[in-house]
Amino acid sequence: MPELNSPIAARLLDWAAHHGRHDLPWQIDRTPYRVWVSEIMLQQTQVATVITYFERFTARFPDITALAAADLDEVLHLWSGLGYYARARNLHRAARLIRDEHGGEFPRGLAAVEALPGIGRSTAGAILAQSRDERCAILDGNARRVLARYFAVAGPVSDAAVLRELWRLAEACTPRDDVAAYTQAIMDLGATLCVRDRPACPRCPLAVGCAALATGRQRELPTPRRPLTRARRRVFMVVALNGGGDVLLERRPESGVWGGLWSPPQFPSQEAAAAFIQDSLGATCAPARALGSVEHAFTHFDLTINPLLVRCEPTATEIQDAAGLWYNIRSPARIGLPAPISALLAGLAG
Ligand code: SF4
Repeated sequence: MPELNSPIAARLLDWAAHHGRHDLPWQIDRTPYRVWVSEIMLQQTQVATVITYFERFTARFPDITALAAADLDEVLHLWSGLGYYARARNLHRAARLIRDEHGGEFPRGLAAVEALPGIGRSTAGAILAQSRDERCAILDGNARRVLARYFAVAGPVSDAAVLRELWRLAEACTPRDDVAAYTQAIMDLGATLCVRDRPACPRCPLAVGCAALATGRQRELPTPRRPLTRARRRVFMVVALNGGGDVLLERRPESGVWGGLWSPPQFPSQEAAAAFIQDSLGATCAPARALGSVEHAFTHFDLTINPLLVRCEPTATEIQDAAGLWYNIRSPARIGLPAPISALLAGLAG
């Protein structure tokens, strides 16, 4: 990285010493593992939500060895509700890789860390900077917003030249010393003052020299991504409930939404659901009854779930294969369930 005098580091460090966040659970005992777990959870998720998940996850899996030895179902169970489950699957896969290829030691150096599944350049930098005080730059959403505004970098980050310029600035601004504190400080500034809507410029330690403030362009910078056109999808879900309070679940394919998690069998049409009920459950079941639809928003599309409740005989538990299980809604097993499915099943139990 270029050895420049950072134009913002001293002010950020001074501000963070007085106003930064110092009591987050991952700021205590900053091992690479704990910082890694927190960084992955914090992608797409707010700090306030992550805290409880982080505490539960690290209590159950206190280190890489424990995570690597765990069953994927239990990992997904502890992730249930956080969303973006590929993060959990990658975390688990990476823990096994570290155990098998790095002797259980979190790897050293940016390249080796970036080579792990689910860890991009910014996350690798954040882990090494915060846990080992290595001089590595970060460019997460918060840092990107601060830098794009302070230096007035216009253009969408999908443009390679814009992204390259932001990385160049991120590296130039990273100080030689106090890298861990600086990394936390720039993230905190972006999360608390230099927020997307109505940044608190009068209280900002970087107000002097901020190009966006000087030219009144805070609303324009960073250049927003083009809004995605949201699609709507609809699925029919067969909720087969037997007299013992068991619901038939199947594991979702690894790729795609809710990959590796469990849900009642899903079908693209009511006819396909009816055929499944007839062919696989028919002999043991009463006619299907439609339950209220469930709406769920993913990043790129909205999903409408139409659950069809089918009451089966207790003996229906014979209908099962490797990809299916009967899940008791009154004494739930520790498996990964997407939040809307969890709520749907809890509704049946209540
Ligand atoms: S002065 Fe305003 S726009 Fe500039 S870095 Fe600070 S909060 Fe962001």
